[in-house]
Amino acid sequence: MSTTSAPSGSAGITLGRRDRGVHAREVLSDADAVLAALDPEQREAATALSGPVCILAGAGTGKTRAITHRIAYGVHAGVYVPQHVLAVTFTARAAGELRSRLRDLAVAGVQARTFHAAALRQLGYFWPRVIGGAPPAILEHKAGLVADAATRLRLGVDRAAVRDLSAEIEWAKVGLLTPETYASAGVRAGRGEPGGLDVLTVARLMEVYEQVKTERGVIDFEDVLLLVAGIIEENAEVAAAVRAQYRHFVVDEYQDVSTLQQRVLDLWLGDRDDVCVVGDPSQTIYSFAGASPEHLLGFPRRFPTARVVRLVRDYRSTPQVVALANGLLTRAGRAASAAAAGLELVAQGESGPEPTLTVHPDDVAEAAGVAERIRGLLSAGVRASGIAVLFRTNAQSEPLEQALADAGIPYLVRGGVRFFARKEVRDAILLLRGAARASTGEETLGDEVRGVLATAGWTAEAPASGGAVRDRWESLAALAALADELAEKRQGARLADLVAELDERAAAQHAPTVEGVTLASLHAAKGLEWDAVFLVGLSEGLMPIALAEGWAAVEEERRLLYVGITRARRHLHLSWARARTPGGRAGRSPSRFLDGLIGDPVERRRGTGAAEGERRRGRRSTLPTRCRVCTGTLDSAAERKVGRCGSCPPDYDEELFENLRGWRSRVAAAAKLPAYCVFTDATLVAIAETVPRDEAALAALPGVGPAKLSRYGQEVLEVLGGSVAPGRAGEA
Ligand code: ATP
Ligand code: MG
Repeated sequence: MSTTSAPSGSAGITLGRRDRGVHAREVLSDADAVLAALDPEQREAATALSGPVCILAGAGTGKTRAITHRIAYGVHAGVYVPQHVLAVTFTARAAGELRSRLRDLAVAGVQARTFHAAALRQLGYFWPRVIGGAPPAILEHKAGLVADAATRLRLGVDRAAVRDLSAEIEWAKVGLLTPETYASAGVRAGRGEPGGLDVLTVARLMEVYEQVKTERGVIDFEDVLLLVAGIIEENAEVAAAVRAQYRHFVVDEYQDVSTLQQRVLDLWLGDRDDVCVVGDPSQTIYSFAGASPEHLLGFPRRFPTARVVRLVRDYRSTPQVVALANGLLTRAGRAASAAAAGLELVAQGESGPEPTLTVHPDDVAEAAGVAERIRGLLSAGVRASGIAVLFRTNAQSEPLEQALADAGIPYLVRGGVRFFARKEVRDAILLLRGAARASTGEETLGDEVRGVLATAGWTAEAPASGGAVRDRWESLAALAALADELAEKRQGARLADLVAELDERAAAQHAPTVEGVTLASLHAAKGLEWDAVFLVGLSEGLMPIALAEGWAAVEEERRLLYVGITRARRHLHLSWARARTPGGRAGRSPSRFLDGLIGDPVERRRGTGAAEGERRRGRRSTLPTRCRVCTGTLDSAAERKVGRCGSCPPDYDEELFENLRGWRSRVAAAAKLPAYCVFTDATLVAIAETVPRDEAALAALPGVGPAKLSRYGQEVLEVLGGSVAPGRAGEA
């Protein structure tokens, strides 16, 4: 995602770009060249190879660059053994970014992970040795168990309350609170009445939740870190082993560390102080989930010998983008601007286009407007992988996916996240491995790979639908593109070479770049950058989100928008829509953050996209508009499809759903079709959630057209009626 940038103060050395994929890359492989690519302050941080280091700086000032170069300098200068370095950050994408940058600096063997992934790995290693057996399974969602715990306590809570209570338990656990300490801490932190319950009842619920979890033999997300902390604390041998393995620690995005993560970091460190933390208080975006910038701001106090480095030069963005970012923070309230004091960004880059603000009549028109602009950028030579559309909630993704698909623009939603762990990727590699043995090498590598992928149901044409289907398609398209790149790079490369390349990449967790526009939430975008960024949905209720009540919560939303703005290198387009749906009530007003920030908006009227929108709206008019669980308004078509909002947990019967999947596998196998051609996952979920009683009810579900109804209707109803035995075809 990053472009080649001419490093300041270096003569003709350029960093490799990972979007070049397997193309030849220039890498900085000697210590002096690594340092030459930094400015004096960054160099100061990079050459402080031991002892505590703290980099406090704004967005785009090269914090991540400073730490990756610091690691590279340490390794190339022979001071660090790569295997002894652990770099942690907060999102999977940001960890991917760290790994890519380290690769570009010819550093191999350094662990760069999220806190969670690093802890999970240690748990997987130590659990069998210390406790015996495999570590317990990890619970994907707390809701089910929280609901069970509530039932045991005879608390009448609805699903919305269960969701709030799950979040509250999470908040308590990342703050290292126990049922005993929660109540007073909750009052002090002004947590109010989560799920409508008083704090003492919540504390009781926490206790029972933990009991239920133990009885079921599962652990939750926070337990992974809590257990690692516990094992290191209680077992001197484990502590010694962990500390012998990891000697130098680097934490990126440290402003968002939670008390629990800090605890684990402290235990990793022991009584040593070889830790380099990097952060920007103005980008704290998880404090409502229990993170706190106090760890960052208090670091120099905790380590009085710490070398503190401040960076103010913004290398990422044009002066126009930087002015907007600074303007947003200047308008921040008291404490926020105090935290940001002294961190005003100074743009280094060339002048660029003015950021724009556009108002659209509705979300569909807004999405179409974004697609239109993207088309313009693409024809002006901006790469699709250099463009991102960022939004506040995942529910906003659907109209955008639809608009991009309609415009024939490739996009990805899960970009770069655990590519090699995806089922479709693992399956495809298995197929390619098999095919490599039988390969005669008569076709071009690209054709051969596309042929193999076709046996897995992949087509050269992107599917019309979005969501998981689209994600799967993009993953396989990336494999095909990688084959083309390899063939271009290495004359006569064969399928076996591609398989070897894939194995090597899987080991290094180096996902191929998918040439598509990134759709992501603002939270998932932190630490990343693109040439062009679209920030959509900038209206009150979405930004700040309606849930953000009170000054502190609203300021966190402001920081989130700041993160969004500062992702852009050059092109920045802001927009909002007056109504949610075409023809709907135009009740929305612009985000308060836009006030005085940017000139008057360009007002768009319904254009050519309107007919399309009306058509789709008409088709959807039979769908519910309210969530059947929490009765909240359903914002996206995807939500209306299942009659439930994205934040409420699915409430279908697991066994019924598995039966449906089993049935689908058998049908697909018999017809030699990919499973999603029978019914998409979304449709299957809709069937399981609504349990239609007859063909008419089934036909009302989107994704069940007349052809599918006549082909599969009767069978589906039989599965729902329980008369077809559950399938064992096993789609994992
Ligand atoms: P964020 O707060 O968003 O995580 P950051 O402070 O980590 O930002 P980086 O991502 O490291 O910033 O850097 C922003 C961009 O500026 C990157 O493309 C980086 O390569 C470039 N950059 C940073 N420092 C320099 C430099 N000294 N010379 C040239 N380019 C630089
Ligand atoms: Mg960074």
